[in-house]
Amino acid sequence: NIVFKLNNIGKVYNENEKNELTVIKNLNLEIKENEFLCIVGPSGCGKSTLLRILAGLELPTEGEIYYRGRVLKKPTKDIGMVFQNYSLMPWLSVEENIALGLKFQSISKEKQKKIVDEYLEMIGLTKFRTSKPYELSGGMQQRVAIARSLANNPDVLLMDEPFGALDAYTRIQLQKELLRIWEKHKKTIVFITHSVDEAVYLADRIILMSKNKGAIEVDIQVDIPRI
Ligand code: ADP
Ligand code: ADP
Repeated sequence: NIVFKLNNIGKVYNENEKNELTVIKNLNLEIKENEFLCIVGPSGCGKSTLLRILAGLELPTEGEIYYRGRVLKKPTKDIGMVFQNYSLMPWLSVEENIALGLKFQSISKEKQKKIVDEYLEMIGLTKFRTSKPYELSGGMQQRVAIARSLANNPDVLLMDEPFGALDAYTRIQLQKELLRIWEKHKKTIVFITHSVDEAVYLADRIILMSKNKGAIEVDIQVDIPRI
């Protein structure tokens, strides 16, 4: 029941022709089925890079990454992502954005509408279903992006500071919803956050990362008992 296995992963970027930047070095990590893993660390330490590698969007420059026992080479549709920049389609309405991934699944029109309604309600934007993303505030757009990724119902969710732009009240609502969905649908979640409080509330396991000699390093791993 290992979902991701990272063997001695390294990531080096070429900043320009002369300079190389080592972001990740000798990273070993296993992520288990149905785990809620939070990654905390200072900005610039390589958290987003690690998440993009888990997503198959970027390849490590060293080591191997396995997803369910197979080398991960490109994105797969059972891995969903929520990024800080909401990446909504500007020409589509809120409801069309949420329904985007559903069109490619064999789900009836009625069922699609039911799913979209459910997530619109969850994010509190039912009244804005026909609005375009640019008509909404940043926090509202972020909620739409979260709803879209959840509506696709992927086995694995990779989330990069998904609640970063939200006010405290909305953040707490969505944290609760995410935990409910995670428990009900047995998802594997990897969640990046700046907030230790948020990590302690959400996670089974927290990994604190830092930069040592220019490369990401796992400092502390804590298992959080769920009560
Ligand atoms: P974090 O998510 O922890 O803030 P990132 O993974 O975004 O960190 O970035 C880690 C380091 O890698 C930063 O110094 C950043 O400037 C650099 N970096 C990220 N992406 C690229 C890229 N595509 N090319 C070159 N450098 C990059
Ligand atoms: P941001 O974090 O970008 O400021 P918010 O999600 O906090 O975005 O929303 C900012 C403003 O958008 C709110 O003050 C409110 O006027 C409006 N707004 C947000 N959500 C709703 C909603 N469900 N119904 C009506 N107005 C809303």
